[in-house]
Amino acid sequence: MALLSGDITSGNITMVSPFPLPPAAPMSMATATGDGAEGLIDGPPPAIALVDSHCHIVFRNFDADLDEVAARWREAGVSALVHACVEPAEIPAIRALADRFPELSYAVGVHPLDTQHWQEHTARDLRIAAQADSRVVAIGELGLDLYRETNLERQLAVLEPQLDLAVELDLPVIIHCRDAAAAMLELFVSRARQGGIPRGVMHCWGGTPAEMEAFLAHGLYISFSGTVTFPKAEATHQCARQVPPHRYLVETDCPFLAPVPRRGKRNEPAFVATVAARVAELRGETLEQVASTSTENAARLFNLSLHSV
Ligand SMILES: [Zn+2]
Ligand SMILES: [Zn+2]
Repeated sequence: MALLSGDITSGNITMVSPFPLPPAAPMSMATATGDGAEGLIDGPPPAIALVDSHCHIVFRNFDADLDEVAARWREAGVSALVHACVEPAEIPAIRALADRFPELSYAVGVHPLDTQHWQEHTARDLRIAAQADSRVVAIGELGLDLYRETNLERQLAVLEPQLDLAVELDLPVIIHCRDAAAAMLELFVSRARQGGIPRGVMHCWGGTPAEMEAFLAHGLYISFSGTVTFPKAEATHQCARQVPPHRYLVETDCPFLAPVPRRGKRNEPAFVATVAARVAELRGETLEQVASTSTENAARLFNLSLHSV
C-alpha cells in the first residue's frame, strides 16, 4: 500500500490463546476522554460497548505488544472490531487474528492504493475467502484515492468488480474515498440505475456536509475516525453534528490517524473511545448515547454478533 512506509507493513503474526472479556461496570466521561492511554486503562471497567468499525492491527507495528493493545481495547469497552483488508495476501494473517480475538470480524478486499495486487483471479479469490468464513462481514477496503495517485481508470477497474461481488454476496462494502467524492458519486449514480450499489460505509469520513448528504442518499453510512478530533477539521465537525443518528459509525483506522491528544503517534482500537467522545460533544449527546447508537448501527450494517452488548 503506497500510503504506508517504514515499519508499517503487513504479516508476521504470532499466535497466543484468547483471553476473556472484562466484566461490564460504570465508566465516567472523564475516563473515556482523559489524556493518554492511562486514562483509558486505569478507570473502572466500562459500561459502554463500542465497535471499532475499521482497524488494521495486522500491520507489524503491533507485533511487540498486541496482548497489551487488546487488554486496553477491552478495558475501554471495545466489544467488537472490524478489521479492514488492503490486499488478499493479508487474509491468512487477519484470519489468524480473528482466531486469536473472538471479538474481531474482518473484511476482504483490495485498497485503491494497492491496485497492483489486483489480478484476473482476485475477484474469485475474494469470493472464496468471503464464503469460507462467517467472520467475513464486508468487502473492503475498496474505493478511490486521488490524493496519493492519479490512476483513476485503474482504480475504477479494481473497484467495480468488488462492488459487483458485494452485491452478489449481499455483503456491505467499506469504502475508502480520498479527494475522489465527485468520481465516486458519478460511479454511484451510473450504478444506481442497475441496482449496483451495495450497502456500506464511507470510512474515515473527511468530506463536506454536501458530499455526506449525497452519500447518505445512496444509503451509505458515515464513519468518523480520529480526524474528527482535529481542531481544524470543521467540515468533519459539521458532518458529525448533521449525520442522522441511525447512519453513523466510529472507527480508529489504526495504526493511522491517532486522535488528539495522541496525534502523530501509533493509533490503537482503544482510542475509538476518544473518537466517540468527540462525536458526542459535537452532537450535544453523552458518550453513552453515541456508544450505544454507533454500536447498534455497526451491528446492523455488518450483521455483527456482539459479545457484551
Ligand atoms: Zn482507508
Ligand atoms: Zn483502512
